[in-house]
Amino acid sequence: MSVRVRFAPSPTGFLHIGGLRTALYNYLFARHHGGRFILRIEDTDRTRYVPGSVEDILESLRWAGIEPDESPVHGGDFGPYVQSQRTEIYRQHAQLLLERGTAYYAFDTPEELERMRQRQQAAGIAPHYDRSSMRNQFTLGPEETKRLLEAGEAATIRLKVPLHGEVKFHDLIRGTIVVPCKDIDDQVLLKSDGFPTYHLANVVDDHLMQITHVIRGEEWLPSTAKHVLLYEAFGWETPQFAHLPLLLNPDRSKLSKRHGDVAVRDYIAKGYFPEAIVNFIALLGWNPSSDRELYTLDELISAFSLERVNKAGAVFDLAKLDWMNAQYLKQRVQRDLQGLVASVRPLLEERGWSASDEYIGRVIVLVHERIHRLPELVEFADYMFTAPHYDEALFRTTWDDTSEELLVELSTLLAAIEPFTAHALQERLNAFAKERNIPFRRIGSLLRLAITGKSVGPGMMDTMALLGKDVVLDRIRNFLEWTRTLPHQHIKEHNPQQLPQHE
Ligand code: GLU
Repeated sequence: MSVRVRFAPSPTGFLHIGGLRTALYNYLFARHHGGRFILRIEDTDRTRYVPGSVEDILESLRWAGIEPDESPVHGGDFGPYVQSQRTEIYRQHAQLLLERGTAYYAFDTPEELERMRQRQQAAGIAPHYDRSSMRNQFTLGPEETKRLLEAGEAATIRLKVPLHGEVKFHDLIRGTIVVPCKDIDDQVLLKSDGFPTYHLANVVDDHLMQITHVIRGEEWLPSTAKHVLLYEAFGWETPQFAHLPLLLNPDRSKLSKRHGDVAVRDYIAKGYFPEAIVNFIALLGWNPSSDRELYTLDELISAFSLERVNKAGAVFDLAKLDWMNAQYLKQRVQRDLQGLVASVRPLLEERGWSASDEYIGRVIVLVHERIHRLPELVEFADYMFTAPHYDEALFRTTWDDTSEELLVELSTLLAAIEPFTAHALQERLNAFAKERNIPFRRIGSLLRLAITGKSVGPGMMDTMALLGKDVVLDRIRNFLEWTRTLPHQHIKEHNPQQLPQHE
């Protein structure tokens, strides 16, 4: 038997990061077993359809490198299976169940169903479809049923759930699950508008598409007993089931928008790399036998197994994702600096800044170990592309009544350094510090403040060398001018004991 699995999202919004994990686990499982991975859009509930979400699902999967293996032919295009294009199939299958006597017509109006619910609520019983008192094939009899159908009365088709006994199935992650039939409702399979419900379309398609393993989120576990009954109602064999653990916020509540981003597109927009997201979500609920953290897609494929998927919810740890992305950023700097340059260029253009490819590449090399995501570069190292912004509070922590004289002297010293390389700068400034018995850190933080407007950043010698002598001298001049516009009465006295906090 060859493995066939599917990812079956409903287009009700942007693809959720948990949905991407479901897709990934299906994909890894299929690849590991040399099987096939199918994408099926479950869009039969038109009231929940959100325009644009199918495109978002397709784009997000493509971005992550999770491509389906097969496709129906849509006028020659390669695309997913789409349930709204298959409604005739579901109608025929609902008929099949009627013929087998495992489903039945019901004619209840929404108002009648509402009154039933209220009666049950008043009597303190759990709401369920009461087959014996409502208007359906059994209470009305065959003649009346036929008459109503011929008169065009709105009818739904419901599953005839056994009144006694239990449903038992095996979940590959959760073990044996038993649900008493009395807890399962006579599920509507076909609505009066002729559209199937999720349950009918899902089971029919899983059967027709010869799905061997249904791997999906834990939230579908309560529907599974119903699905097992549906397979039995058709006389079909059930696939194997594996329900994946929930994704949790750090406080162990269910992952939600209130705690941060949940849509894959948000992570794309923030500049996370697909290989980092794939690696990160692979480890959300699956634990490989080693404590290794970094895996390529191919390595995930060979290591993945459902046996090592946990039951317990998996905490979504953003700090770990950031760490992982930083690892992949380092790899990309080694392997594809030009690709990174191409990603940074539009971020600069958005701000009205420009620089040569070579310069952008050198800034990336200089700064990348201090950021997690590429877009952080333009905030963290804005001064590499534009004049720095000076902050008075920061200025007052660094500046004292000897700073101006020292900075003027440093400026003269820098002007004389040729070639203006990091190595030459380091040597000359070191010698100067020694000669004057000034801690090197003090010189570094003073230059950093004047040239970048910040208290932290990559090595100052490299930074100055990259900016070039003219820019460095200009910035020191502008900075000194700016300091003269500030009220001077609060400048602190020099204290040789007090070293700068940074540098
Ligand atoms: N259409 C369901 C969803 O939106 C699919 C559940 C399943 O995989 O069976 O997640």
